[in-house]
Amino acid sequence: MVVGTLSPFPPSFTAPALTLPLQTKPLHPSVPGSALIIARHGDTGQQIADAYGVEVSALSPSRTGALPEGAVLRVSFAALPENSAGVLPPSVSTYLVQSGDTLAGIAAAHDLSVTELLSANLHLETLNKLSVGESLFVPQSGAGLLVRIKTGQSVQSLVKAYHADPAQVALANGFGLPNERRVGDYLLLPGVLATGFQQQLVARQERQEQAERQARVQQQYERFQAYRVQVAQERQRATQAQYERYLTWQKQVQQRRLAEQQAVQTQYQKYLAWQHSEARQQLIEKYAAQAQFEAAQQAARLQAQTLARAQAKSRQLNTVRAASTAQSQNAQDLSWPLRSFRITSRFGERDIEFHKEFFHGGVDLAAPYGTPIYAAAGGTVTRSGYGDFGNNVYVENGNAVIIYGHMSRLGVSAGQTVQRGQLLGYVGCSGVCTGPHLHLEVRLSGQAVDPLGLLP
Ligand SMILES: [Zn+2]
Repeated sequence: MVVGTLSPFPPSFTAPALTLPLQTKPLHPSVPGSALIIARHGDTGQQIADAYGVEVSALSPSRTGALPEGAVLRVSFAALPENSAGVLPPSVSTYLVQSGDTLAGIAAAHDLSVTELLSANLHLETLNKLSVGESLFVPQSGAGLLVRIKTGQSVQSLVKAYHADPAQVALANGFGLPNERRVGDYLLLPGVLATGFQQQLVARQERQEQAERQARVQQQYERFQAYRVQVAQERQRATQAQYERYLTWQKQVQQRRLAEQQAVQTQYQKYLAWQHSEARQQLIEKYAAQAQFEAAQQAARLQAQTLARAQAKSRQLNTVRAASTAQSQNAQDLSWPLRSFRITSRFGERDIEFHKEFFHGGVDLAAPYGTPIYAAAGGTVTRSGYGDFGNNVYVENGNAVIIYGHMSRLGVSAGQTVQRGQLLGYVGCSGVCTGPHLHLEVRLSGQAVDPLGLLP
């Protein structure tokens, strides 16, 4: 017996190659086509032609007898005449699909299984896509396979191919003789069911769904890839933008540094200009003058303090002098030792030139270098030479001693007696001195007193 391993559908048909039960083999497409059959051990050409409900002439190679095992045969099917309605068996009615109908629903409504309903509707291409208004064949009394007789087929060949009961076929199709049916008419084969057809449709549907799923997955994957590319591009753009911002920032920093350097340079040049400016010199002089003024102020304050102390001391000494006047009448009246002079420092004033705090025991009379110095009072020269006041002369009279200092030249010698008005020497600047002058000092009983108090 022949069991085909290839689908009888034409090559354009995309359903998977299923091993179908023999009784479904002769399902013919509505278009002309062919199928390849591989012969098994013991198969004959006639058996294969019978099994497919065609004449032996429809086989290629056309051979009636035994076939070698593994021989390949092509079975050709002719197309049905176009627009041929065909005679429908009286036990089969037509049902028009309505909105919301399903195959299972229609089958149940007619007390049929889905397989029984499918067996009468071999033209269906899917299980779940019914169109409203589409017509379905519904067997009314006893289910079976509803086939269309095609060119090369006959009632007898189909009955034989499906192992149907000829009597039941005649009864179900309401005819007396098999030749009452022609090509294009429908033939119901009771008891035969297209059990594989449903599987075939399910498989086809699954394939479609799988293809759709794959397409969706592919689409998602492509979307994902596109998204990834987009993200990568955006990231790259962002990085680029960030880098450009960084460059801009760096440039700004450089410009700022340059500006700062220029500002420092400008400041320095201003400073240089200021250093050599007349305004600065004036300011420096002003500061120096101010410092001098403050030093002089300070000196004047100290001088005033010292003068106050000296005057206090002088008052004390005046008392002593008054007491000794009786003993020393000669010292009371002194005459000026210089013809012309200028008092530069008085008794008790300190010498601000040297900024030394020491008591000035006499009076300074400034006069030109070489001016003659005359004795302010008569007496005995006790010293004449270099001493505490440069070249100085000491003249003693009773308890009084008169000192003449800083002479340029001495005019007397120690031991000599001098009269009032006698030449003693000449004005100079010997010893500690800043300018030519005569230091005139009067000591009474060893105590210095203000000479101005004794002079006219
Ligand atoms: Zn002096």
